[in-house]
Amino acid sequence: MTGDYRYSELPIYIHIPFCRRKCGYCDFYSLSSVDKQLQAQVIGNLLVQLEMLLNALQPMRVPSVYIGGGTPNSLTPQLFQELISGVEALITPYRIAQPFEWTVELNPELITPGQIFFLKESGVNRISVGVQSFSEEALALIERNAGLDETLNGLALITEHWEDRWNLDIITGLPRQTTAEAQKDIETAIGYSPSHISLYALTIEEHTPLEKRVQAGSFSARTADDTADVLKLLWQTLKLHGYEHYEVSNFARPSQKGRHNVHYWRMKPYAGIGPGAVSTLSSSQGLPARAQVPHDINKFAQSSNPFAELEWEVLLPSQFMLEYLMMGLRTVPGIDTAAFRRIFGLDIEQILTQTIRQHANYGRLSIHKVETRTYLSVTEAGMMLLDHILLQAAREIEGIEPDINWPLS
Ligand code: SF4
Repeated sequence: MTGDYRYSELPIYIHIPFCRRKCGYCDFYSLSSVDKQLQAQVIGNLLVQLEMLLNALQPMRVPSVYIGGGTPNSLTPQLFQELISGVEALITPYRIAQPFEWTVELNPELITPGQIFFLKESGVNRISVGVQSFSEEALALIERNAGLDETLNGLALITEHWEDRWNLDIITGLPRQTTAEAQKDIETAIGYSPSHISLYALTIEEHTPLEKRVQAGSFSARTADDTADVLKLLWQTLKLHGYEHYEVSNFARPSQKGRHNVHYWRMKPYAGIGPGAVSTLSSSQGLPARAQVPHDINKFAQSSNPFAELEWEVLLPSQFMLEYLMMGLRTVPGIDTAAFRRIFGLDIEQILTQTIRQHANYGRLSIHKVETRTYLSVTEAGMMLLDHILLQAAREIEGIEPDINWPLS
């Protein structure tokens, strides 16, 4: 399916589909209570697939690896070490230039000193820690699979033993959460001094226990309008403490942005490994193509060639252009208009004239120069209405079928 294209850079995402228990709000592909033997087969095949993929694509370099899930540190110590050592051995020939970013997601309640030492020894230089809230009541309300005490224990271990970059996740906009409580959560998070904070408003995803509770009337979700004022306040607090707002939900200390996710937002190619993971690669026709690993750990574990199980979808240039807009406008720098023209052969200011005019008048969108480059970006006021702006943009470009030149080298 993939052509002869030689990737100058290929970030790798590795999905570990296991969790201790499922959280009530979560729609990621992950399962609880999977027996250890099946987990071992999945990890074994995951390393096989990574090796096959690197051999098949031979990227010039892998700039970042992100191991997420699921809960990577819910694996047994032996499997966790097998995974990290296996990835390290396979990736080493491709991490030929700096900066190289290797992130592993850790659930705080499962962190051990041994995990931290092993990660450091193996060259992992960033961890991402899902805390979500510092309120026991809030954690229970969203059915988080960890309590506050064990979360705080994990954070104490990070403070003591981890010196490198790290991210802390917080969810806000919870039912009954007062502004003061939301503010306290973010201030407590800042108190741990992570280099990066991801701040999400709670969304009710389909087919989750929270969605069932909303339908049954026992959980009242807040609307985007309800959370807008709280979010604005929390954004301000983060900025006051030296965190740069660089994507709708992401804040970083200077030079501490998550480089892996920046590749996604710029719609660069990447490879996803493991049950449920997705890749965006170049097809044999030179078009962007999405490869989905099926949501089926049994199939994945039993396959002698997990690479062969991928489900491919070639993207229409118009579909890819819409995704490019949606991702680019989530970021604070926005979309580089010259890069857009090189990929799609179109002038973004011309194809979005009405959307830009209308929202620029209200101070929600702006076309502006940074040094010699021109960007289309959403302002802070616009970010609160991002879905609305994107819907309008999608309508305006409907029917345009561009040529495409992707990925740019
Ligand atoms: S730990 Fe993370 S991946 Fe697992 S169920 Fe909770 S939110 Fe989902």
